Amino acid sequence: IIKVLRLGHRKARDARITTHVCLTARAFGASEVIITGEDDKRLIENVDDVTERWGGPFRVSYQKDWKKILKEWKGEIIHLTMYGIPIQDIIKKIKESNKDKLVIVGGPRVPGEIFKLADFNVAVTNQPHSEVSALAVFLHMFFEGKELEKRFENPKIEVIPSKSGKKIRESKI
Ligand code: SAM
Repeated sequence: IIKVLRLGHRKARDARITTHVCLTARAFGASEVIITGEDDKRLIENVDDVTERWGGPFRVSYQKDWKKILKEWKGEIIHLTMYGIPIQDIIKKIKESNKDKLVIVGGPRVPGEIFKLADFNVAVTNQPHSEVSALAVFLHMFFEGKELEKRFENPKIEVIPSKSGKKIRESKI
């Protein structure tokens, strides 16, 4: 199981990027996102709505206290940060154990403690970019591309891949 912890959400500024973290987590095979920072019911409703229409299983929730989440987490903690060890050098080691993984992506300022609490501080290049791209590349390397073929359960709507134009299949219920 892979869960994603999104730190430091700011309701007014991060609605779009945190939504994209959630949609990327879902599309690339993570099973859950936990949001910390400010509570944002509307964002959670929007992501739940996507899961309802496009299929699951996928969960998104809010928890106030990230320290409590880390304390209670039984598996491994992976922190995505540009200051970490390049993913290509560490991914094999990360995949060695089959413990559950909590993948942390930061927001505006990541508390220094996170670096110490993480089992792995992992960089997707050592250049600054975004929590969305870092998460996508991490999941892609972790699942070795198999996530691209993931089928979702009980979708109400599905794309029929098409060379040109948009084709979808909608279930009647
Ligand atoms: N300025 C913040 C800091 O110094 O901690 C980071 C801001 S960055 C826009 C937000 C998040 O994107 C980071 O916390 C990290 O999770 C992710 N990120 C950005 N670049 C990354 C990289 N090269 N490798 C891994 N994660 C990265």
